[in-house]
Amino acid sequence: QQQQERRPHVAVLAFPFSSHAASLLTVIRHLASAAPASTAVFSFFSTHKSNRSLFSSSSSSAFNMIKAYDVTDGVPEGYVFHGKPQEDIGLFMRAAPEGFRKAMEAAAVDSGKRITCVVADAFFWFAEEIAAELRVPWVAFWTSGPSSLAAHLYTDLLRNKLHITDGIAGLGDERLNDFIPGMSNKMRLKDLPEGVLFGNLESPFSHMLLRMGRSFPRATAVALNSFEELDLSLTQHLKSHHIPTLLSIGPLNLLHLQLHGTHNLVAGAPRGSDEYGCLPWLDNQKPAPASVAYISFGSVTVPPRSELVAIAEALEASGVPFIWSLKEEVWDHGLPDGFLGRTREQGMLVPWAPQVDILSHGAVGAFVTHCGWSSLLEGIAGGVPMICRPFFGDQRLNGRMIGDVLGIGLTVEGGAITKEGLVRSLGMILNGDEGKRMREIVRHLRLQAGKALSPTGSSTGNFNKLLQVITTGAPP
Ligand code: UDP
Repeated sequence: QQQQERRPHVAVLAFPFSSHAASLLTVIRHLASAAPASTAVFSFFSTHKSNRSLFSSSSSSAFNMIKAYDVTDGVPEGYVFHGKPQEDIGLFMRAAPEGFRKAMEAAAVDSGKRITCVVADAFFWFAEEIAAELRVPWVAFWTSGPSSLAAHLYTDLLRNKLHITDGIAGLGDERLNDFIPGMSNKMRLKDLPEGVLFGNLESPFSHMLLRMGRSFPRATAVALNSFEELDLSLTQHLKSHHIPTLLSIGPLNLLHLQLHGTHNLVAGAPRGSDEYGCLPWLDNQKPAPASVAYISFGSVTVPPRSELVAIAEALEASGVPFIWSLKEEVWDHGLPDGFLGRTREQGMLVPWAPQVDILSHGAVGAFVTHCGWSSLLEGIAGGVPMICRPFFGDQRLNGRMIGDVLGIGLTVEGGAITKEGLVRSLGMILNGDEGKRMREIVRHLRLQAGKALSPTGSSTGNFNKLLQVITTGAPP
């Protein structure tokens, strides 16, 4: 009994929007499996909606060291949404510090174990205060890559050097590595996420990002979903100058495959479940390997109608077999009349797809993506060249990395998808020499990612350090 009481109790604070909570849960599940039997328990805090979608999967019972607790979504009773951007995020964030504190107290009472470590989505800068009150280590988890992390870490410096107080128009082609050492010289100021130099710098979201960037160096450890070899010079710079305990532990999608075969989760639907039959459809594709296009813009983004139409027309004009994951609510009004009927033989339009498995299927040869960080890593793990249409946040930096830094994809010209542009890009990637070259590079990166996760690889080493932090409380 004595032994039981002293078991580490890790409080996990999840950001319940887009794919953040799913990524964090993947890490926690891996930690739970790696921790020697019954040495730690995990309390996972997210909103009711987010927990319901994450923990509904059958695999969750295998992880009885992880217990989900609901926190408030911050939406007052009877509240009518105005349709403002990020309104739900704003309401949640306002209530979050108190909401998490209350739920954590309840979990400590419920389990009879005091909390010994806080692992929080990096967005929650206030997790530092919570951990300090409890006198326990604080691990920040960054769901994206090192370049966007660096952008937030360097926000004060960038604003000071560029004399920016409230955003500025006309910035663009300056190189980011003039300000952020270690960054590739292909990255440009205009690639930065909103909230660093442009966009509404006074929004709650921008303030959150700023406070987050300032807090990184004080965390006991910062874990991220990447592998060091993907961006070695920046990772080394960040580790030697700012965050010695920066731990790249990914790619999580490959980590997850090692753990559970194909079953993993994302907010909204169980990943890996193939209710629309995409995988058998791919198995039945007779043409050459790497001939199918997979199109997806992640869990949040829906492109404007003009671009949806352009994609549909490009698919019809090129005849390229396709799987297109697109939210069902835009099928009726967002696509050309009769598109579904005319392309029934050519491809599949689905509301949600088992993306990780699709990208790893040999029939898939091109990935049209919004350049979300998880999508980038999943494209690499599948060895599939990408066609990049970034929208917001870290996506422009990720798109630049895919296209110009790594050379494993094309970026759409003019910033928006057009029929002609997409037909050309699909042709280059699926049939051209350029596509062949990209496929070689991306497959080499896939090998590197696998090596990072091998027993002696960099991500495995970092993961073991993270395990040490959460089980012993000692810094890595
Ligand atoms: N995803 C999926 N099926 C879909 C669309 C997306 O499984 O039909 C998953 C995808 O595999 C990825 C996540 O949703 O893991 C999207 O994460 P990403 O960081 O790429 O973009 P975000 O949704 O955060 O914008």
